[in-house]
Amino acid sequence: MNLRPHPKSRFLMIKCSDCGNEQVMFGSASSKIKCLVCGKTVAEPSGGKSIIKTKIVTVLE
Ligand SMILES: [Zn+2]
Repeated sequence: MNLRPHPKSRFLMIKCSDCGNEQVMFGSASSKIKCLVCGKTVAEPSGGKSIIKTKIVTVLE
């Protein structure tokens, strides 16, 4: 089990599972991220990285 934080932060392209909106988010955001269209919570912070609660389309490094 690897709990080390990522050495560099990434951006993720995510797709809202409710409305299909795609948006870019910071992979280690320290606050909740909501869908810009419908307001669904798409990611929550956990120990310096984000738990993604929806579909990840692409990881942008
Ligand atoms: Zn949405």
